[in-house]
Amino acid sequence: MTELTDDELERYARHIVLREIGGSGQARLKSAHIVVIGAGGIGSPALQYLSAAGVGRLTVIDDDRVDLSNLQRQTLFGDGDVGAPKVDAAARALYRLNPHVNVMPVETRIGAANATALLDGADVVLDGCDNFTTRLAVADAALKLHIPLVSAAVGQFEGQIGVFRGWEADKPCYRCLVGDAPDRAEASCAETGVMGALTGMIGSLAALEAIRAIVPFGTDPAGKLLIADTLDWRFRTLALPKDPECRCAA
Ligand SMILES: [Zn+2]
Repeated sequence: MTELTDDELERYARHIVLREIGGSGQARLKSAHIVVIGAGGIGSPALQYLSAAGVGRLTVIDDDRVDLSNLQRQTLFGDGDVGAPKVDAAARALYRLNPHVNVMPVETRIGAANATALLDGADVVLDGCDNFTTRLAVADAALKLHIPLVSAAVGQFEGQIGVFRGWEADKPCYRCLVGDAPDRAEASCAETGVMGALTGMIGSLAALEAIRAIVPFGTDPAGKLLIADTLDWRFRTLALPKDPECRCAA
C-alpha cells in the first residue's frame, strides 16, 4: 500500500476528509497512472485538477505547439508559452502546481498505429482531443486493453462527456455511441468557435470522472452520456445502451 507523507496528508486534506475518498482513496490516486490525450481546452483544466488531486503519474500526449489563439481557453498556458510544445509547457505548469506528481510529456500524434503501445499500463484514459480519427483510435485501444475511457468533447456552447468500459457485458464502448463511420466529419473549434469557460467545465468534469474511475464513489456513470447545453442552461443525461451489433458485443 502506498504511503502518504505528512506534506501530502496536509495537501490533500480536503479530499481525505471526504468519506468517499479517505486516506485509502488518496493512496490509490497516488498509485494511479492516467493518460490524457490532448493538452487543449479540455486537457488543460483536466490536467490541472488531476495534478492538484495528487494522481501519481500523468502522461500527456499532444503533438501541437501553443498558439496565441489557444490562450482564450487553455488555462495551463500563458503568454510566454506561445510557440512551445504543449506537452512541455503543460509539464512545467503541472510541476509548479504539484511537484509530487510525475508528469510524462509525450510529443506525438496518437493514432491507430501507436495507441495500444502508448496507453498500455494506464489505469484510466482521458480523451479531450480535437478530432474524430484520434478519438476512434484511442477508444479502440482502450477497449482492447480494458482501460476505462473518459471521453469529453465540446463545440460552441455544448459539451458532452461519457465513461466507457465496453468490455463489460452490459456497458457500451465509444463506438456504441458513434457507430463505425471511419471518416465522420467534425467541425474544428477554429472553424466554428467555442466558449472558453465551457471547455473548463467539461474538462473539470472529465477530471472528476477520471478520479471516480480510480476511487469509485457515487453512481457509476458508465452507460450514460451527459450533455451540457449552456445556451439553454440545461444538463441532460441520456441512457447509452450497449449496441448488440457493435464489435464490443462480440
Ligand atoms: Zn460497442
